[in-house]
Amino acid sequence: MDNNLKSGYVAVIGRPNVGKSTLVNALTGEKIAIVSNKPQTTRRRIMGVITGEDYQAVFIDTPGFFEPTSKLGGYMVGAAESALPDADIILFTTEADAKNHKGDLEILKRLRGSKTPVFLVINKIDKIPKPEILTAIEKYKNLHAFREIIPISALTGENADALLDAVRTYLPLGPRYFPGDYLTDMTERQIISEIIREKALYVLRDEIPHGIAVETTGVKQKKDSADVDAAIYCEKDSHKPIVIGKNGAVLKSIGQAARPEIERLLGVPVFLRTWVKVKKNWRDDDFMLKTLGYRR
Ligand code: GDP
Ligand code: MG
Repeated sequence: MDNNLKSGYVAVIGRPNVGKSTLVNALTGEKIAIVSNKPQTTRRRIMGVITGEDYQAVFIDTPGFFEPTSKLGGYMVGAAESALPDADIILFTTEADAKNHKGDLEILKRLRGSKTPVFLVINKIDKIPKPEILTAIEKYKNLHAFREIIPISALTGENADALLDAVRTYLPLGPRYFPGDYLTDMTERQIISEIIREKALYVLRDEIPHGIAVETTGVKQKKDSADVDAAIYCEKDSHKPIVIGKNGAVLKSIGQAARPEIERLLGVPVFLRTWVKVKKNWRDDDFMLKTLGYRR
């Protein structure tokens, strides 16, 4: 046992869409969490572990904080909240734009009085001219006693090293919680489902995505290939033909986009079969939420 080893949990929190999942992927160098330009893409806590010579940082990607309007939404906000008590460091993530976001203030209110070190991570600096980074820092720096203020671009990786260095500095002494090659708590099937959901979010029209869920129902490894079966759930009869598309075109593009990533994950050519099923109002259905893993 190495007495100088540092380790701990780093909760990544913030409003929807500020780039929390992109950040965890950038730091770990792996695609652990799916990303989309639609809010509320991440539905549960997702672990991304970085193990170095003398440290292990366990990043927890969380759903954003928002006002829930369904049982699923309630679960998501609960998942974000539950990451806070265990955290050794909190990355309060926001984005560099000129707007004042009420959501940011609500989240900072929750952190008030917490003894856990909070970093201000200002993401998406690639979108603004350099001098405006200072304006963004000014806007936030007095809203909380931030221990560190780190502007980054999760997309280009700019300053991600500085963030990781600061995290290492603040990690407490502690054991390696996971084996050195451990990357995430997601199962292979969960990752496959999320890859398919990400592509569906990308391909589908605006009103559908929040009502989509994916369940990988079978992964059959063969000698040089794998058969993967997945169900795509939508919550209304009228959504089903949209997800399938004319002559199956929409479903086909979802599958075509997902397959290469699933093949990279499994390391073999994949035969992917997808089915579209209607589960009326599944976002408020305890049984479906449990089946899909959105319940503890
Ligand atoms: P989350 O909801 O906070 O997890 O946000 P995501 O990681 O899903 O990202 C939301 C959107 O912001 C996606 O379209 C990302 O590509 C985009 N995004 C994330 N980080 C950056 C960044 O550093 N720069 C730019 N320009 N876009 C980003
Ligand atoms: Mg996310």
